[in-house]
Amino acid sequence: MNKAYLGIDIGSISTKGVVIDENNEIKAKEYLWTEGNPIGAVKRLLSILKDQLDQEQYQVVAVGTTGSARKLIGVVTEATVVKNEITAHAIGTTSLYPEVRTIFEIGGQDSKIILIENGIVVDYAMNTLCAAGTGAFLSSQAHRLGVGVEEFGKLALTSKKPTQIAARCTVFAESDLVHKAQIGHKKEDIIAGLCKSVVSNYLNNVGKGKKILPPIVFQGGVSKNEGVKKAFEDATGYPVIVDPNGHLTGALGVAVLAKKSKVEKEFTFDIANIEFTTQGAECGKCSNNCEIICVYREDELIDAWGNKCEKGAIKKAIA
Ligand code: SF4
Repeated sequence: MNKAYLGIDIGSISTKGVVIDENNEIKAKEYLWTEGNPIGAVKRLLSILKDQLDQEQYQVVAVGTTGSARKLIGVVTEATVVKNEITAHAIGTTSLYPEVRTIFEIGGQDSKIILIENGIVVDYAMNTLCAAGTGAFLSSQAHRLGVGVEEFGKLALTSKKPTQIAARCTVFAESDLVHKAQIGHKKEDIIAGLCKSVVSNYLNNVGKGKKILPPIVFQGGVSKNEGVKKAFEDATGYPVIVDPNGHLTGALGVAVLAKKSKVEKEFTFDIANIEFTTQGAECGKCSNNCEIICVYREDELIDAWGNKCEKGAIKKAIA
């Protein structure tokens, strides 16, 4: 039996999972929507990965989690590694492209930039506030123009004269877009203009003051959009690499970290039939009134966090 490692990247919008072997080769992978229910999403994810994985050949021996619900899912899956998104993405990307210096990431609701030197993160920035540079913004604009998200990037590449779009924020961008369409700009030019504005918005916000050096890897859901990739190449003057598994890099990164941890425990994928619930409780022992999150497996408390001091610690029922 060969050893395998599971990585789960659970965000507010999407849930990604990969199973890798000793050589970091992906043996099972899935991407699905979190739908506001991280535990439900992970149960669905695991049943899909279980079906994909050749279980006669591979046994998962360690689990890693990342993403905004990493702690919760780390508890549920008894993960050996729980890491933030920056570390997970950096490790995942350097495992594919060891020479990478700059990672651009644009997801459904946020974006980040990570600068790497000799395989180590030297600087990063995240943007979760401005919607104008995200996948959700691009898909809503594609919809407004009557173009499917899949054709959006390809159509942008046919433009000879991208329209200038004021895209510093979604409200400006939307009204400018309507205006430009009304005065007769071609659809492909407006779309190419939008891709350009997403990129300039990104470089002027999350990329502000950052020294962008090649090789550059672009990932996250928006990296599938060829128009945005081209706009990045035009703006930086460097080629931009998009990996076919670029949307899974966070999950890949924590799977690699789980492998490196050398802590092994057989994982059976069998949490689908176990009932997990979370409950919020206010500590109330001082004016901070910390909100404490309690996680139960069946009716047993398995973990709790959110307390800023020991007075608010809630004891686990099991180790
Ligand atoms: S956990 Fe500590 S800091 Fe938070 S409300 Fe309770 S006593 Fe106050």
